[in-house]
Amino acid sequence: MQYYSTNNSSLKSDLKNAVINGLADDKGLFMPEEIPALPDDFWERLPAMSLGEIGFETLKHFFCPIIPEQDFRQLTDDAFNFPIPLVPVSENISALELFHGPTLAFKDIGARFLARVMARFTKDYGRDINVLVATSGDTGSAVANGFLGIDGVNVFVLYPKGLVSDVQEKQFTTLGQNITAIEVDGSFDDCQSLVKTAFMDQQLKEAISITSANSINLARFLPQMVYYFYAYAQAVQYGHTDLAVCVPSGNFGNLTAGLIAQRMGLPIKRFIAATNLNDVVPQYLQTGHYQSMASIATPANAMDVGDPSNFIRIQELFGHELELIKQVIEGISINNQELFETIDNVYNKYQYILDPHGAIGFKALQKKLMNNEHGIFLATAHPAKFPEVVEPIIKKTIDQPERLKAFLKGEKQVKSLTNSYEELAKLLLSQTRNV
Ligand SMILES: *Cc1c(COP(=O)(O)O)cnc(C)c1O
Repeated sequence: MQYYSTNNSSLKSDLKNAVINGLADDKGLFMPEEIPALPDDFWERLPAMSLGEIGFETLKHFFCPIIPEQDFRQLTDDAFNFPIPLVPVSENISALELFHGPTLAFKDIGARFLARVMARFTKDYGRDINVLVATSGDTGSAVANGFLGIDGVNVFVLYPKGLVSDVQEKQFTTLGQNITAIEVDGSFDDCQSLVKTAFMDQQLKEAISITSANSINLARFLPQMVYYFYAYAQAVQYGHTDLAVCVPSGNFGNLTAGLIAQRMGLPIKRFIAATNLNDVVPQYLQTGHYQSMASIATPANAMDVGDPSNFIRIQELFGHELELIKQVIEGISINNQELFETIDNVYNKYQYILDPHGAIGFKALQKKLMNNEHGIFLATAHPAKFPEVVEPIIKKTIDQPERLKAFLKGEKQVKSLTNSYEELAKLLLSQTRNV
């Protein structure tokens, strides 16, 4: 399978190059040249499959034979090694709990897979690979933990100073080893543009090898398909058929993965793209104008994205036809007041504790679900990661899972940067071992 650039469909690349470089040479995002339909026997076997098996059967079309099937089968078992239960919350709404991985957020799934694919591709590379990642909170911890201790890979996590929660920050600033956390005096968008600038800096790229672990990387967003199939398998066992899946969205990698799963044959009827106040995509779906904005800080901070980089992939999937996109995706923006009220109501009524991102998903379904439909929202983070938001609302302390307690005990180690590319370049050059 070849991968083409969203800027130029005749600029193609193989998988290895696409994964190592992250972005195409013309700065487009890579898209698979074709999206195969899954064979009938996949659907027959699906109810009995483990997550690792689903991962293998769906992703092998993109990652094999460059990775031999036998090795890939092991890789998917190893990457998708924690439960992803579909939990009924109300009569017609269920949560797909994606937060049972090492850093308690759904990004563990993409990050664990990416780290394993990248480690495989860089093993014989001859020099260190530097992974640059901008985070609004959860990406940094998932990527850092996914790559922790992998030889030959250095990870640099850029995050907006003061704008990520304490718990999130601890999960990527306390690791040491091959992980460097960098707090930037600026917003998430500033961090993202510093990373983008580094990727365009030819001089830097000649001196050191850099790559991206943001959801612009194919090997990060594609594996997220896995849990859409798994959710469907579980929903069918509950007897739910007309499925509407609500994706709390920021950079739109998660939704893109769901759409690709649908294209491979997954019978999800429609998707609801829920955002916080950063409503560029819902606005676009309504007006046909895509107007990026400076990001607005909200309590659902992992979704504070003013120019979602993966949306171009969604447009690409639908041949840039707004009407076709609207047949499958409905957009909605949820404000902070609604977010707080939803955490409160859902706890009081159903004793289910939502995190701020999941609350946006739940609320969006409450507003948009049709009578005959069953709604699934992606519960993208564990509420214990956001105690400062959730606890005052539910008036209760949230139990912290053991792995979270372990992070909280660690010591924060970070480098500080002003929002300046020159400083970043200097730091990268000084930290990198060229062998
Ligand atoms: C990253 C993140 C999102 C947004 O996912 P995208 O793929 O960027 O749309 C939602 N919720 C949480 C908790 C996240 O960490």
